[in-house]
Amino acid sequence: MDHSETMHLPPLHGVAQPLCAPAPPYYAESGDECLLFEHAFRQRLPVLIKGPTGCGKTRFVEHMAARLGRELVTVSCHDDLSAADLVGRHLISDGGTRWSDGPLTRAVRRGAICYLDEVVEARKDTTVVLHPLADDRRVLPIERTGEELHAADGFMLVVSYNPGYQNVLKGLKPSTRQRFVALQFDYPQAHVEREILLRESGVDARSADQLIALAQALRRLTEQDLEETVSTRLLVMSARLAASGVPLAKACHAAIVDALTDDAETVQALSTLVTAVM
Ligand code: ADP
Repeated sequence: MDHSETMHLPPLHGVAQPLCAPAPPYYAESGDECLLFEHAFRQRLPVLIKGPTGCGKTRFVEHMAARLGRELVTVSCHDDLSAADLVGRHLISDGGTRWSDGPLTRAVRRGAICYLDEVVEARKDTTVVLHPLADDRRVLPIERTGEELHAADGFMLVVSYNPGYQNVLKGLKPSTRQRFVALQFDYPQAHVEREILLRESGVDARSADQLIALAQALRRLTEQDLEETVSTRLLVMSARLAASGVPLAKACHAAIVDALTDDAETVQALSTLVTAVM
């Protein structure tokens, strides 16, 4: 749905912009997500991006950070990541201990965009530091130093998660998700994804068409057939192998079929699909 006609952007005040910056990394837009993100940034609202793996969430955030002239601090969350990993800790040095900022604290001080990828993976104690940053207060409590850090202008909290991986233990609590503006992502439409393959890999147009046909056939399979379907990332990888001289069918086996499943019967079924579209 395109709401762009109703979204106007006033000039940006209060946030220092770099005079000359490199061009933002390529991002093919699917709707009006760029404008919506920019409005959220200007309104100092945190953003939650939901979508399957490899559909362009990280590239989108990289693109928007560059477009808005903000430094980007990215943290890939995992099940051992604690609040201290985000905020910082005292390190032992020659004469005693010294405080070392974690990535979230660095972003808060410098007015950067902090992107927490797969935030539901992180330990639950991280919500204690994320909540006051994600609402009007925009403060980061640093328990170990007693500081309460006010986020610099330009700071923005962006988190992503893949609802497909969600389980009872690892959902986002309503009290967390209701602090964010949510953007729903999915694999791009065929003509957009084709353009991405061409731009990202330099593969020829015919191979790009075949990869898109394969993607559509694979995505029609149900969850019983395939736990997780082919992502734009895997398509780009196959296209890059093909562009560097690997025959397309072989590239699809290596980067798609064998990447998606270990089950011999499923490999056989997917191989048949590859042969059918080549
Ligand atoms: P996610 O963060 O959702 O797991 P990524 O942003 O890392 O996925 O996307 C994986 C790759 O797919 C990117 O490196 C890029 O090559 C490609 N890609 C996916 N979507 C887009 C898009 N909309 N525009 C440009 N490249 C894209």
